[in-house]
Amino acid sequence: MHKKLFIPGPVEVGQDVLNKMATPLIGHRTKDAIALQQSISEKLQKVMRTQNTIILSTSSGSGLMEGAVRCFTKNRAAIFSIGAFGDRWYKMCVANGVEADLFSSELGQITTPEMLESALSTGKYDLITITHNETATGIHNPLKALSEIYKKYPDVIVCVDTVSSMSGDDIPVDELAIDVCITSSQKCLGLPPGLAIAAVSDRAVEKAKTINNRGLYFDYVELVKFVKEKPYQYPSTPSISHMFALDYQLDKILEEGIENRYKRHCMLAQIVRDWATKNCELYSDPENLSVTVTCITNTLGISFSELNKAMGERGYLISNGYGALKDKTFRIAHMADTTEEEIRELLKNLDEVIVELKAAQAK
Ligand SMILES: *Cc1c(COP(=O)(O)O)cnc(C)c1O
Repeated sequence: MHKKLFIPGPVEVGQDVLNKMATPLIGHRTKDAIALQQSISEKLQKVMRTQNTIILSTSSGSGLMEGAVRCFTKNRAAIFSIGAFGDRWYKMCVANGVEADLFSSELGQITTPEMLESALSTGKYDLITITHNETATGIHNPLKALSEIYKKYPDVIVCVDTVSSMSGDDIPVDELAIDVCITSSQKCLGLPPGLAIAAVSDRAVEKAKTINNRGLYFDYVELVKFVKEKPYQYPSTPSISHMFALDYQLDKILEEGIENRYKRHCMLAQIVRDWATKNCELYSDPENLSVTVTCITNTLGISFSELNKAMGERGYLISNGYGALKDKTFRIAHMADTTEEEIRELLKNLDEVIVELKAAQAK
């Protein structure tokens, strides 16, 4: 039996989208491939609300994250971490010999404007990374407030991880002056894993041209050059199958509308938070809860493994806590194309399973 996915990636993908992956292949240097990539770029610019260049990468999002710190840091990077995925960005710096400092918030808390200001005012940093939506703790950073700080430092390249929030949350890339905005196919966009996407500003690319040892596969200069000059090509062989599915799924996303999609995610998040407050506790700062994933402190007196096993027998998969929060919290994702009906059905089954497991314990 297929278990319906309520984990924060990969997400449940519609059969119509999966079918597009089975489209007969085309040559990656043909006119048809160029038209396909151009179509994807133009639609993604609408979804991401940007005029910046859209690049695709046949990798998961981590590839473009690693490429970004390597390509755009000349002096020193300031890594603002609100959990596991921010920490990973720091590890990428270390692994690539990129000078960096880590500015961590307590788990469940945001990066504050004060943290940004105090780091940037030292003048030591020419690149910052921000995790928009921390999938491990279920919070999202206040990008608008943070942007008011970093906009005062025009020489700093701003990289934002929107892997688990783009097309679910409200992220107007140009208004927020994000230079490098990265996302992955398998989360809010509702596609299979294997494709990463970034919107990249011209000034970031101009700077990257002056930086040595950018690597090759994730070299943004090369990736952007192939989009702008060829045009709309990819340096090596891209996952054309993903591109067929992405082009199709972007039509569906734009048909729903970016604003409506955001509202739907807010509504789903509220339903899950209400359930969590009634049955357990919300893990993170209540002022900054994510709209795409909810992290719940497990106060049920039932272990996560028991809970997930029982849910699995009913055809659902939810997620354990991540890293340090494993077995202390669990997570329910409400992203991509999830409907109100589906989330209510999941929670109804959770309620029933909890009653059953408690009755079994009482025996
Ligand atoms: C999933 C995730 C990543 C890693 O993305 P991959 O596509 O798996 O490489 C990075 N950041 C956040 C916030 C994520 O949720």
